[in-house]
Amino acid sequence: MSRFLCERYLSLEAYTPGEQPQDMQYVKLNTNESPYPPSPGVVEAATAEAGRLQLYCDPTAAKLRDALAARCGVKRENVYVANGSDDILYFAFMAFGGDGAFFPDITYGFYKVYCELLGVRYEKIPLKDDFSIDPAQYAGLGGMIAFANPNAPTGLALSRDTVEGIVRANPGHVVLVDEAYVDFGAESCLPLVEKYDNLLVVQTFSKSRSLAGARLGFAVAQPALIDDLNRIKFSTNPYDINRMTQAAGIAALAADETNMENCRRIIATREDAARRLRQMGFEVLPSSANFLFARTDKIGGGDLYRALKQRGVLVRHFDAPRISDYNRITVGTPEQMDALIDAITAILEG
Ligand SMILES: *Cc1c(COP(=O)(O)O)cnc(C)c1O
Repeated sequence: MSRFLCERYLSLEAYTPGEQPQDMQYVKLNTNESPYPPSPGVVEAATAEAGRLQLYCDPTAAKLRDALAARCGVKRENVYVANGSDDILYFAFMAFGGDGAFFPDITYGFYKVYCELLGVRYEKIPLKDDFSIDPAQYAGLGGMIAFANPNAPTGLALSRDTVEGIVRANPGHVVLVDEAYVDFGAESCLPLVEKYDNLLVVQTFSKSRSLAGARLGFAVAQPALIDDLNRIKFSTNPYDINRMTQAAGIAALAADETNMENCRRIIATREDAARRLRQMGFEVLPSSANFLFARTDKIGGGDLYRALKQRGVLVRHFDAPRISDYNRITVGTPEQMDALIDAITAILEG
């Protein structure tokens, strides 16, 4: 760091994104991207917009929000869009974290980073021993609440009824439900938005809609919460979603049947891979996401991660309390999962 950095950032510990190695071809199962490319219509729409890049994009993203509103069964004023859902999470902690924030001890690592960057006081609530969220610990907490559902990196999901209980038990604060993985088998809380003014549902095009590289996330809530997020967007960067991404998002929604079909393929691949890993002696958490969280007594989590990388298979290992024994394995194509299983077999036999 330079000698010019503001003192309040000296101790800031940035988030570590999953590796995106550019040196060689890996079987890449480490950042929960879709193994399937976007639909041809998405590529066409984005390419057409590339010829208009001399012009600023629509800062209200009206067409994209209308398409999302139609897809989610809400109105345009219920929809906020941003440059990846990460930006939404950041803005939400900024806007709603005034009384502090609460989130699980094991969850998406960015929540803590945003709180530290923003000076939002936070408290981590331990998951139960089986890694599930204990809803009883989320009643009347006195601050904003955030959790991923399904949670990351565990893949475990709460039912909509359970989440509703948490929303109802915290009427004085925003409950942010991060549904990045919801299309892989969990119950979305979108239907609850019209009932609760403190519920903010956040989703992304990165995982289930094959657009991680385009950077597009969205949130659904009652209009007052959406206005608050827009207040921050229009105080920072109103043009946060570029023309190509807005067009790609609209086209991706037009092809959403294909996206959801891809999700069903990934779910089938996930269940098959989980079964094979269990046969090999792994303990695999029941996943409602596009990844598996697994451990075995036969080799430590860090050792398995390194041995797989040597064999050209990238998974994600978190050197963190309670979970350092595990690896998070993105569900890829059936062929990629075959390569994973073959590599693990060779490692355990070697
Ligand atoms: C991937 C992920 C995000 C970020 O998604 P982007 O839209 O790509 O920024 C947010 N939350 C969770 C839990 C994720 O896993």
